[in-house]
Amino acid sequence: MNDTRQDDVIIQIQSLNKWYGDFHVLKNINLEVRKQEKIVICGPSGSGKSTLIRCINRLEEHQKGKIIVDDIELTNNLKNIEKIRTEVGMVFQHFNLFPHLSILDNLTIGPIWVRKTPKKEAEETAMFYLEKVKIAEQANKFPGQLSGGQQQRVAIARSLCMKPKVMLFDEPTSALDPEMVKEVLDVMVQLSEEGMTMIVVTHEMGFAKTVAQRVMLMDEGMILEENNPTDFFEHPEHERTKFFLSQIL
Ligand code: ADP
Ligand code: MG
Repeated sequence: MNDTRQDDVIIQIQSLNKWYGDFHVLKNINLEVRKQEKIVICGPSGSGKSTLIRCINRLEEHQKGKIIVDDIELTNNLKNIEKIRTEVGMVFQHFNLFPHLSILDNLTIGPIWVRKTPKKEAEETAMFYLEKVKIAEQANKFPGQLSGGQQQRVAIARSLCMKPKVMLFDEPTSALDPEMVKEVLDVMVQLSEEGMTMIVVTHEMGFAKTVAQRVMLMDEGMILEENNPTDFFEHPEHERTKFFLSQIL
């Protein structure tokens, strides 16, 4: 008989190790993410947070251990990589929109070229998600004409147009002016309430407390501590976690 807990797991990371040359950047990472779960990863700069989530859609290659997304193992098999990339959306610190394309075209280019979606349908979907992130009126502008907060909301909408099963966020608000952080976090909270599975690298602890089931601290390539938000923030175990929290809270 199937173990129901296993059925519920969408990302499995087992004994993951990665090196950049001689530098051991990820050390024996084990992580299981269940469907609809929200995980927040924090930790000092250089601890490997970006590398870890970039491995999940193969923007970085790992050398040892396993990454399995929705029953597909990430190996050098290009078909598997493509399949996983369609299931895993990613939002970066620096939006990464195409500057020479309109907002609407930024959202339709993936579905039209990768998914072979008819243009009209892709545009309808794009408008649906632009409405969702409350920015539909900007559809015909170019990224450079929008504020950072607006561009980041466009980047989230663009990812959603590919109908991902999991969304990865790598410090999505850390390049924004303070007054724009909330508009982006609001969209992410809404997405979480709709049931999206999310891994979010962020130091926005208010967001972590509101949304996450589990918060993790990465340090020197390891997941040093993991707990529910209340215990993580109120009763951190490791000195490193206490020190890190004392610096950001
Ligand atoms: P974080 O996101 O936690 O700040 P990163 O995953 O970006 O950490 O980086 C972890 C470590 O790996 C850092 O010491 C960084 O300098 C190093 N690193 C990141 N990318 C590369 C790369 N492409 N080549 C070599 N070293 C890298
Ligand atoms: Mg990073």
